[in-house]
Amino acid sequence: AAQTVGQAVIPLVNSLQDIIARLDGEDAAGLELPQVAAIGGQSSGKSSVLEALVGRDFLPRGPDICTRRPLVLQLVRHSAAEEWGEFLHAPGRRFHDFEQIKREIQLETDKEAGDNKGVSEKQIHLKIFSPNVLDITLVDLPGITRVPVGDQPSDIESRIRTMIMQYIKHPSCIILAVSPANADLANSDALQLARLADPDGSRTIGVITKLDIMDRGTDARNFLLGNVIPLKLGYVGVVNRSQEDINFNRSVKDALAFEEKFFSTLPAYQGLSHCCGVPQLAKKLNMILLKHITKMLPGLKARINTQLVAVAKEHAAYGDTVESTEIDPCKSITDEDICTAIQNSGGPKGAMFLPEV
Ligand code: GDP
Ligand code: MG
Repeated sequence: AAQTVGQAVIPLVNSLQDIIARLDGEDAAGLELPQVAAIGGQSSGKSSVLEALVGRDFLPRGPDICTRRPLVLQLVRHSAAEEWGEFLHAPGRRFHDFEQIKREIQLETDKEAGDNKGVSEKQIHLKIFSPNVLDITLVDLPGITRVPVGDQPSDIESRIRTMIMQYIKHPSCIILAVSPANADLANSDALQLARLADPDGSRTIGVITKLDIMDRGTDARNFLLGNVIPLKLGYVGVVNRSQEDINFNRSVKDALAFEEKFFSTLPAYQGLSHCCGVPQLAKKLNMILLKHITKMLPGLKARINTQLVAVAKEHAAYGDTVESTEIDPCKSITDEDICTAIQNSGGPKGAMFLPEV
């Protein structure tokens, strides 16, 4: 049941990326997927949401300020069965233990931002190599705070806001605007900043966390339905692990099972299954990625066809009659070919990132 983050989109993207890798020419850029950035107030649950999406425990989380430097998390697909993490600041050192990755993030944070709650805009760059991921980049950002604590400068709030804008202002960045359910959405820092960066809401997904710890007698139904603050791409409600769960090392898998039970038993969320739970969030992200990929297909097709023509000319020049079984230079790639490839890959159902944990 914990098919958190299944796989369907992965084969499609990966086969497209394989095609691109075989093309050469000056424009050898890959199929670039948009970055996904989680933004919101401090302790709203940003790191928890990203972790749940990836299906692994490796980000420092807690009730205090934990994320104090932007973490750029690049998921890299490779063909071996092995899975490991590698930091830009420690090239060549493979971290196979995800617990150790978390410790390294903490150490690196302290190194740059001090050990007294300081915040730095200098990125930590982590690559996760795995056979089960999409080549995509997720960004975990420090949360917005208002009152400086520890070594934080008096203008901490505006510094963090500026830092967040640097990431989400890019038109290709998908914004996960994370707001806790136990505060009024009208006070949401995430939604306010997202609106600045993406005024027409075409790349902002609202994520409502902490549905399990709302005031008794209240629920997030109206938030999720967009009745409080409408959002074009809608909202997804999630239940992440509580601090107690973290202290007791509850696994991602258990947490997802708990979330599923939560939504299926609470009367307030009946009929809202399309906007409840981490798997739904993954699905929404997949749909957006697919749309993005579809937009890029014509350009990709043109590149492939240009190259086919070049190969055909070369063959002709050599008087080469050897037949290539892989590509037929006389036949160019059509929309139909690409559609078939998409269909064969399983289509847009399921979700992204790592499958079962
Ligand atoms: P961030 O500062 O936005 O990255 O937030 P974290 O992911 O570090 O979470 C802050 C705290 O809130 C941690 O103690 C989490 O365990 C807790 N938390 C996050 N999401 C939820 C949730 O959905 N339910 C509960 N009960 N606790 C949550
Ligand atoms: Mg965090």
